[in-house]
Amino acid sequence: MNRHRTWLALTMAALCVGLLVWNNDRPQHYYHHSGEVFGTLYNIRYQAHANLSDSIRQCLKQVDDALSMFNQNSDLSRINRNEPVTVSTDFLRVFTEAQSVSDLSGGAFDMTVAPLVNAWGFGFENKAQMTAERVDSLRALIGYRRIHLQGRQIVKDHPAIRLDAGAIAKGFACDKVAEMLRRQGCTNLLVDIGGEVVARGKNSKGELWTIGLTKPIDDPTGTRQELQATLRYDSVCMATSGNYRNFYYEGTERRSHTIDPRTGYPVQHNLLSATVTASSCMRADALATACMVLGAEEAVRMIDQTDDAACCLIVGENDKQVFVLSKRWTHIEELIK
Ligand code: AMP
Ligand code: MG
Repeated sequence: MNRHRTWLALTMAALCVGLLVWNNDRPQHYYHHSGEVFGTLYNIRYQAHANLSDSIRQCLKQVDDALSMFNQNSDLSRINRNEPVTVSTDFLRVFTEAQSVSDLSGGAFDMTVAPLVNAWGFGFENKAQMTAERVDSLRALIGYRRIHLQGRQIVKDHPAIRLDAGAIAKGFACDKVAEMLRRQGCTNLLVDIGGEVVARGKNSKGELWTIGLTKPIDDPTGTRQELQATLRYDSVCMATSGNYRNFYYEGTERRSHTIDPRTGYPVQHNLLSATVTASSCMRADALATACMVLGAEEAVRMIDQTDDAACCLIVGENDKQVFVLSKRWTHIEELIK
Protein backbone atom coordinates (compact mmCIF):
# COMPACT_ATOMS: atom_id res chain seq x y z
CA MET A 1 0.00 0.00 0.00
CA ASN A 2 2.80 2.37 1.04
CA ARG A 3 4.79 1.51 -2.11
CA HIS A 4 1.69 2.30 -4.14
CA ARG A 5 1.43 5.71 -2.49
CA THR A 6 5.11 6.43 -3.10
CA TRP A 7 4.72 5.54 -6.79
CA LEU A 8 1.65 7.70 -7.08
CA ALA A 9 3.42 10.67 -5.46
CA LEU A 10 6.48 10.22 -7.69
CA THR A 11 4.34 10.00 -10.84
CA MET A 12 2.41 13.14 -9.85
CA ALA A 13 5.65 15.03 -9.16
CA ALA A 14 7.09 13.93 -12.53
CA LEU A 15 3.89 15.07 -14.26
CA CYS A 16 4.07 18.50 -12.55
CA VAL A 17 7.72 18.96 -13.52
CA GLY A 18 6.86 17.84 -17.07
CA LEU A 19 4.02 20.35 -17.20
CA LEU A 20 6.28 23.14 -15.95
CA VAL A 21 9.01 22.34 -18.47
CA TRP A 22 6.44 22.08 -21.28
CA ASN A 23 4.92 25.41 -20.23
CA ASN A 24 8.31 27.12 -20.21
CA ASP A 25 9.20 25.63 -23.59
CA ARG A 26 5.99 26.75 -25.28
CA PRO A 27 6.70 29.68 -27.62
CA GLN A 28 5.83 33.08 -26.20
CA HIS A 29 4.09 35.61 -28.43
CA TYR A 30 3.73 39.35 -28.18
CA TYR A 31 0.03 40.08 -27.80
CA HIS A 32 -1.63 43.44 -28.46
CA HIS A 33 -4.89 44.34 -26.79
CA SER A 34 -6.55 47.73 -27.31
CA GLY A 35 -9.88 49.32 -26.56
CA GLU A 36 -11.70 52.11 -24.78
CA VAL A 37 -11.97 52.63 -21.06
CA PHE A 38 -12.63 55.62 -18.74
CA GLY A 39 -13.47 57.71 -21.85
CA THR A 40 -10.02 57.15 -23.34
CA LEU A 41 -8.09 54.63 -25.43
CA TYR A 42 -5.77 51.95 -24.18
CA ASN A 43 -3.03 49.91 -25.80
CA ILE A 44 -1.47 46.97 -24.01
CA ARG A 45 1.39 44.84 -25.37
CA TYR A 46 2.88 41.87 -23.55
CA GLN A 47 4.86 38.72 -24.20
CA ALA A 48 3.12 35.63 -22.87
CA HIS A 49 2.28 31.98 -23.43
CA ALA A 50 -1.41 32.79 -23.82
CA ASN A 51 -3.79 35.61 -24.60
CA LEU A 52 -4.63 37.42 -21.36
CA SER A 53 -7.30 39.83 -22.66
CA ASP A 54 -9.98 38.47 -20.33
CA SER A 55 -7.80 39.14 -17.29
CA ILE A 56 -7.00 42.63 -18.62
CA ARG A 57 -10.71 43.41 -19.05
CA GLN A 58 -11.36 42.12 -15.53
CA CYS A 59 -8.65 44.42 -14.07
CA LEU A 60 -10.11 47.44 -15.87
CA LYS A 61 -13.61 46.58 -14.68
CA GLN A 62 -12.41 46.34 -11.08
CA VAL A 63 -10.86 49.82 -11.34
CA ASP A 64 -14.09 51.16 -12.86
CA ASP A 65 -16.11 49.53 -10.05
CA ALA A 66 -13.92 51.24 -7.45
CA LEU A 67 -13.25 54.69 -8.90
CA SER A 68 -15.49 55.73 -11.78
CA MET A 69 -17.76 58.71 -11.27
CA PHE A 70 -19.74 57.67 -14.37
CA ASN A 71 -20.48 54.21 -12.96
CA GLN A 72 -23.37 54.79 -10.53
CA ASN A 73 -22.49 51.66 -8.52
CA SER A 74 -18.79 52.39 -8.04
CA ASP A 75 -17.42 52.82 -4.52
CA LEU A 76 -16.70 56.45 -5.41
CA SER A 77 -20.23 57.23 -6.70
CA ARG A 78 -21.76 55.62 -3.63
CA ILE A 79 -19.48 57.57 -1.29
CA ASN A 80 -20.46 60.74 -3.17
CA ARG A 81 -24.14 59.90 -2.48
CA ASN A 82 -23.30 59.30 1.21
CA GLU A 83 -24.23 55.63 1.10
CA PRO A 84 -22.44 53.38 3.61
CA VAL A 85 -19.61 51.68 1.69
CA THR A 86 -16.98 49.19 2.74
CA VAL A 87 -14.38 50.25 0.22
CA SER A 88 -12.46 47.80 -1.98
CA THR A 89 -8.71 47.23 -1.72
CA ASP A 90 -8.32 49.12 -5.03
CA PHE A 91 -10.14 52.15 -3.62
CA LEU A 92 -8.03 51.96 -0.46
CA ARG A 93 -4.73 51.91 -2.37
CA VAL A 94 -5.71 54.89 -4.53
CA PHE A 95 -7.14 56.89 -1.63
CA THR A 96 -3.98 56.37 0.45
CA GLU A 97 -1.67 57.48 -2.39
CA ALA A 98 -3.97 60.41 -3.23
CA GLN A 99 -3.85 61.68 0.36
CA SER A 100 -0.08 61.35 0.40
CA VAL A 101 0.30 63.40 -2.83
CA SER A 102 -2.15 65.97 -1.41
CA ASP A 103 0.15 66.37 1.61
CA LEU A 104 3.26 66.54 -0.56
CA SER A 105 1.74 69.17 -2.88
CA GLY A 106 0.28 71.32 -0.09
CA GLY A 107 -3.26 70.57 -1.30
CA ALA A 108 -2.63 71.30 -5.02
CA PHE A 109 -3.74 67.74 -5.71
CA ASP A 110 -7.05 67.12 -3.98
CA MET A 111 -9.71 64.49 -4.75
CA THR A 112 -12.37 66.62 -3.01
CA VAL A 113 -12.15 69.07 -5.92
CA ALA A 114 -15.15 67.24 -7.54
CA PRO A 115 -17.82 69.94 -6.91
CA LEU A 116 -15.62 72.54 -8.63
CA VAL A 117 -14.70 70.21 -11.51
CA ASN A 118 -18.42 69.66 -12.10
CA ALA A 119 -19.42 73.29 -11.76
CA TRP A 120 -16.72 74.34 -14.25
CA GLY A 121 -18.15 71.83 -16.74
CA PHE A 122 -15.50 69.09 -16.63
CA GLY A 123 -17.39 66.45 -14.67
CA PHE A 124 -20.58 64.47 -14.94
CA GLU A 125 -22.94 67.42 -14.48
CA ASN A 126 -23.77 70.38 -16.73
CA LYS A 127 -21.67 73.48 -16.31
CA ALA A 128 -23.02 75.93 -13.75
CA GLN A 129 -23.16 79.72 -14.10
CA MET A 130 -19.93 80.64 -12.34
CA THR A 131 -19.69 83.78 -10.25
CA ALA A 132 -17.14 84.70 -7.59
CA GLU A 133 -19.80 83.93 -4.92
CA ARG A 134 -20.48 80.52 -6.38
CA VAL A 135 -16.76 79.72 -6.54
CA ASP A 136 -16.43 80.74 -2.87
CA SER A 137 -19.40 78.66 -1.75
CA LEU A 138 -18.05 75.57 -3.56
CA ARG A 139 -14.54 76.19 -2.28
CA ALA A 140 -15.94 75.84 1.24
CA LEU A 141 -16.59 72.14 0.43
CA ILE A 142 -13.04 71.40 -0.69
CA GLY A 143 -10.25 70.00 1.45
CA TYR A 144 -8.55 66.61 1.52
CA ARG A 145 -8.15 66.86 5.30
CA ARG A 146 -11.94 66.81 5.59
CA ILE A 147 -12.23 63.17 4.49
CA HIS A 148 -10.94 60.36 6.66
CA LEU A 149 -10.51 56.65 6.47
CA GLN A 150 -12.00 54.78 9.43
CA GLY A 151 -11.34 51.08 8.93
CA ARG A 152 -12.76 50.53 5.47
CA GLN A 153 -15.23 53.42 5.56
CA ILE A 154 -14.72 56.95 4.24
CA VAL A 155 -15.99 59.53 6.70
CA LYS A 156 -16.69 63.09 5.50
CA ASP A 157 -16.81 66.24 7.62
CA HIS A 158 -19.70 67.52 5.46
CA PRO A 159 -22.22 65.48 3.40
CA ALA A 160 -21.79 67.74 0.32
CA ILE A 161 -18.09 66.79 0.03
CA ARG A 162 -17.55 64.72 -3.13
CA LEU A 163 -14.58 62.92 -4.64
CA ASP A 164 -13.06 62.88 -8.14
CA ALA A 165 -10.47 60.22 -9.03
CA GLY A 166 -9.96 61.39 -12.63
CA ALA A 167 -6.41 62.54 -11.94
CA ILE A 168 -5.17 59.21 -10.53
CA ALA A 169 -7.44 56.36 -11.74
CA LYS A 170 -5.82 55.85 -15.17
CA GLY A 171 -2.38 55.61 -13.58
CA PHE A 172 -3.68 53.10 -11.06
CA ALA A 173 -5.29 51.04 -13.83
CA CYS A 174 -1.86 50.85 -15.55
CA ASP A 175 -0.29 49.61 -12.28
CA LYS A 176 -3.03 47.04 -11.79
CA VAL A 177 -2.84 45.60 -15.32
CA ALA A 178 0.99 45.55 -15.17
CA GLU A 179 0.89 43.76 -11.78
CA MET A 180 -1.50 41.15 -13.17
CA LEU A 181 0.74 40.59 -16.22
CA ARG A 182 3.78 40.21 -13.97
CA ARG A 183 1.92 37.67 -11.83
CA GLN A 184 1.20 35.74 -15.03
CA GLY A 185 4.95 35.63 -15.65
CA CYS A 186 5.24 38.42 -18.26
CA THR A 187 8.53 40.29 -18.01
CA ASN A 188 8.10 42.25 -21.26
CA LEU A 189 5.08 44.52 -21.25
CA LEU A 190 3.80 47.99 -22.09
CA VAL A 191 0.54 49.25 -20.61
CA ASP A 192 -0.69 52.59 -21.99
CA ILE A 193 -4.03 53.94 -20.78
CA GLY A 194 -4.78 57.37 -22.22
CA GLY A 195 -1.10 58.34 -22.19
CA GLU A 196 -0.25 57.02 -18.72
CA VAL A 197 2.31 54.26 -19.14
CA VAL A 198 3.97 51.34 -17.38
CA ALA A 199 6.79 49.72 -19.37
CA ARG A 200 8.94 46.74 -18.40
CA GLY A 201 11.54 44.75 -20.34
CA LYS A 202 11.77 44.79 -24.14
CA ASN A 203 9.47 45.12 -27.15
CA SER A 204 8.89 42.41 -29.79
CA LYS A 205 12.08 43.47 -31.64
CA GLY A 206 14.11 42.92 -28.47
CA GLU A 207 14.64 46.68 -28.08
CA LEU A 208 13.81 49.10 -25.26
CA TRP A 209 10.23 50.39 -25.28
CA THR A 210 9.79 53.76 -27.00
CA ILE A 211 7.43 56.22 -25.35
CA GLY A 212 6.37 59.37 -27.20
CA LEU A 213 6.24 62.70 -25.41
CA THR A 214 3.28 64.54 -26.97
CA LYS A 215 3.76 68.12 -28.16
CA PRO A 216 1.50 70.32 -26.00
CA ILE A 217 -0.41 72.03 -28.80
CA ASP A 218 -4.11 72.89 -28.55
CA ASP A 219 -5.99 69.76 -29.58
CA PRO A 220 -9.54 69.67 -28.16
CA THR A 221 -10.45 66.67 -30.36
CA GLY A 222 -7.48 64.65 -29.07
CA THR A 223 -6.64 63.47 -32.61
CA ARG A 224 -3.29 65.18 -33.26
CA GLN A 225 -0.35 63.18 -32.05
CA GLU A 226 2.72 65.29 -32.86
CA LEU A 227 5.63 64.20 -30.75
CA GLN A 228 8.01 66.47 -28.93
CA ALA A 229 10.46 63.65 -28.30
CA THR A 230 10.72 59.88 -28.07
CA LEU A 231 12.11 58.35 -24.90
CA ARG A 232 13.44 54.81 -24.46
CA TYR A 233 12.99 52.82 -21.26
CA ASP A 234 13.27 49.25 -19.99
CA SER A 235 11.41 50.02 -16.79
CA VAL A 236 9.28 53.06 -16.09
CA CYS A 237 5.98 54.33 -14.68
CA MET A 238 5.12 57.61 -16.43
CA ALA A 239 2.16 59.99 -16.58
CA THR A 240 1.52 63.25 -18.44
CA SER A 241 -0.94 66.01 -17.61
CA GLY A 242 -1.64 68.97 -19.84
CA ASN A 243 -4.16 71.64 -20.52
CA TYR A 244 -4.04 71.41 -24.32
CA ARG A 245 -6.86 68.85 -24.78
CA ASN A 246 -9.56 69.45 -22.20
CA PHE A 247 -10.40 73.17 -22.22
CA TYR A 248 -12.92 75.72 -23.53
CA TYR A 249 -13.10 79.47 -23.94
CA GLU A 250 -15.50 81.72 -22.05
CA GLY A 251 -15.10 85.04 -23.86
CA THR A 252 -11.36 85.51 -23.85
CA GLU A 253 -10.87 83.40 -20.70
CA ARG A 254 -9.47 79.95 -21.26
CA ARG A 255 -10.92 77.34 -18.87
CA SER A 256 -8.93 74.15 -18.51
CA HIS A 257 -9.79 70.98 -16.62
CA THR A 258 -7.10 71.39 -13.95
CA ILE A 259 -8.63 73.25 -11.03
CA ASP A 260 -6.59 74.95 -8.34
CA PRO A 261 -8.37 73.82 -5.14
CA ARG A 262 -6.87 76.77 -3.29
CA THR A 263 -8.46 79.46 -5.52
CA GLY A 264 -11.41 77.48 -6.91
CA TYR A 265 -10.53 78.52 -10.50
CA PRO A 266 -9.09 76.58 -13.44
CA VAL A 267 -5.34 77.13 -13.51
CA GLN A 268 -3.95 79.74 -15.85
CA HIS A 269 -0.22 79.79 -16.30
CA ASN A 270 2.43 79.04 -18.85
CA LEU A 271 3.02 75.42 -17.85
CA LEU A 272 1.73 73.52 -20.90
CA SER A 273 2.42 69.94 -19.88
CA ALA A 274 3.96 67.94 -17.05
CA THR A 275 5.44 64.48 -17.55
CA VAL A 276 6.33 62.66 -14.35
CA THR A 277 8.04 59.33 -13.66
CA ALA A 278 7.65 57.74 -10.22
CA SER A 279 7.69 54.46 -8.30
CA SER A 280 4.10 53.72 -9.39
CA CYS A 281 1.97 55.02 -12.23
CA MET A 282 -0.84 56.19 -9.90
CA ARG A 283 1.72 58.30 -8.04
CA ALA A 284 3.12 59.67 -11.33
CA ASP A 285 -0.45 60.48 -12.44
CA ALA A 286 -1.34 62.35 -9.24
CA LEU A 287 2.03 64.15 -9.19
CA ALA A 288 1.64 65.24 -12.84
CA THR A 289 -1.73 66.84 -12.02
CA ALA A 290 -0.23 68.49 -8.93
CA CYS A 291 2.56 69.93 -11.13
CA MET A 292 -0.04 71.46 -13.47
CA VAL A 293 -1.67 73.18 -10.49
CA LEU A 294 1.59 74.41 -8.96
CA GLY A 295 3.27 75.84 -12.07
CA ALA A 296 6.84 75.06 -13.17
CA GLU A 297 8.91 76.49 -10.34
CA GLU A 298 6.95 75.04 -7.42
CA ALA A 299 6.41 71.77 -9.32
CA VAL A 300 10.15 71.12 -9.66
CA ARG A 301 10.61 71.97 -5.96
CA MET A 302 7.93 69.43 -5.00
CA ILE A 303 9.31 66.69 -7.29
CA ASP A 304 12.86 67.21 -5.99
CA GLN A 305 11.59 66.67 -2.43
CA THR A 306 10.62 63.07 -3.26
CA ASP A 307 13.09 60.22 -3.46
CA ASP A 308 11.48 58.48 -6.43
CA ALA A 309 9.99 61.03 -8.85
CA ALA A 310 11.36 63.05 -11.77
CA CYS A 311 9.64 65.48 -14.11
CA CYS A 312 9.97 67.02 -17.53
CA LEU A 313 7.84 70.16 -17.81
CA ILE A 314 7.12 72.05 -21.04
CA VAL A 315 6.66 75.76 -20.50
CA GLY A 316 5.41 78.25 -23.10
CA GLU A 317 7.61 81.32 -23.38
CA ASN A 318 6.86 83.91 -26.07
CA ASP A 319 5.67 81.41 -28.69
CA LYS A 320 8.56 79.12 -27.79
CA GLN A 321 8.40 75.95 -25.72
CA VAL A 322 11.16 75.28 -23.22
CA PHE A 323 11.90 72.26 -21.06
CA VAL A 324 12.19 72.54 -17.30
CA LEU A 325 13.65 69.39 -15.74
CA SER A 326 13.88 68.15 -12.17
CA LYS A 327 17.17 66.88 -10.72
CA ARG A 328 16.43 63.19 -11.25
CA TRP A 329 15.19 63.42 -14.88
CA THR A 330 17.52 61.17 -16.89
CA HIS A 331 16.50 61.36 -20.56
CA ILE A 332 18.08 64.63 -21.63
CA GLU A 333 19.73 63.81 -24.98
CA GLU A 334 16.39 62.67 -26.45
CA LEU A 335 14.89 66.09 -25.67
CA ILE A 336 17.67 67.96 -27.44
CA LYS A 337 17.45 65.88 -30.65
P1 AMP B 1 -5.05 64.62 -15.21
O1 AMP B 1 -5.33 64.55 -16.69
O2 AMP B 1 -4.49 63.36 -14.65
O3 AMP B 1 -4.25 65.81 -14.84
O4 AMP B 1 -6.46 64.75 -14.49
C1 AMP B 1 -7.33 65.82 -14.73
C2 AMP B 1 -8.65 65.54 -14.06
O5 AMP B 1 -8.46 65.51 -12.66
C3 AMP B 1 -9.69 66.61 -14.30
O6 AMP B 1 -10.46 66.35 -15.46
C4 AMP B 1 -10.53 66.53 -13.02
O7 AMP B 1 -11.45 65.47 -13.12
C5 AMP B 1 -9.51 66.17 -11.96
N1 AMP B 1 -8.87 67.33 -11.30
C6 AMP B 1 -8.83 68.64 -11.71
N2 AMP B 1 -8.13 69.39 -10.86
C7 AMP B 1 -7.70 68.55 -9.87
C8 AMP B 1 -6.92 68.74 -8.69
N3 AMP B 1 -6.43 69.93 -8.35
N4 AMP B 1 -6.67 67.64 -7.92
C9 AMP B 1 -7.16 66.42 -8.25
N5 AMP B 1 -7.91 66.19 -9.34
C10 AMP B 1 -8.17 67.23 -10.16
MG1 MG C 1 -3.06 62.94 -13.20
